[in-house]
Amino acid sequence: MYRISTQEMRSDSELSNLSVRQLRARRRRLAAALGDPQASLEGSLVSQMRRCGKEGCRCAQGELHGPYVYLSIGRSANRRLLYVPAELAEVVRSHVSLTEQIETTLAAISAINLELFARRQLD
Ligand SMILES: [Zn+2]
Repeated sequence: MYRISTQEMRSDSELSNLSVRQLRARRRRLAAALGDPQASLEGSLVSQMRRCGKEGCRCAQGELHGPYVYLSIGRSANRRLLYVPAELAEVVRSHVSLTEQIETTLAAISAINLELFARRQLD
């Protein structure tokens, strides 16, 4: 799969050095490489050790269970952790990672469009 190069992640000030033709070509490449939006799953995976709460369990002595994988969704006050069963961890991981890639690509396209707009070349 096509990955955004660091060159394409350059700051807005560097975009200003490119011609309109170069900006549009880069935008086209980025759009073509955009992953399938159907895969979107926002969140991040976290791994945690847990206490089960059972009296006399080894975890009460600090020997925690896990690690278990959780999908962290929402922001600050609305943040929630959803347990991810081991057999689903890989598919969830790939969705989360593809979503990050889509967001990075959209941000890069947006930066190009902002540059085109500044030059009154947004089509
Ligand atoms: Zn326990």
